[in-house]
Amino acid sequence: MDKVPVSTKVARCPTCRKPTVPEYRPFCSKRCADIDLSRWLGGGYVIAGSSLDVTDDSSLTDDGTLAPGSRPPADRDEDS
Ligand SMILES: [Zn+2]
Repeated sequence: MDKVPVSTKVARCPTCRKPTVPEYRPFCSKRCADIDLSRWLGGGYVIAGSSLDVTDDSSLTDDGTLAPGSRPPADRDEDS
């Protein structure tokens, strides 16, 4: 999807590398502009909506999957 010829003069969004939109230059959307802004303000730590590798959830493994023993709530209705 992001196999764009290098010869294009399309500027890339510094946040997600998508082609920029004139309305939100140099970003592709207001969301990316906000992300970049918060990155500067927060020192690169507080980025809303960003998929960082860091997680504080101890129930998750390094792969982001549920660890054994910590199953999600079952959809069974055993109470009824
Ligand atoms: Zn973007």
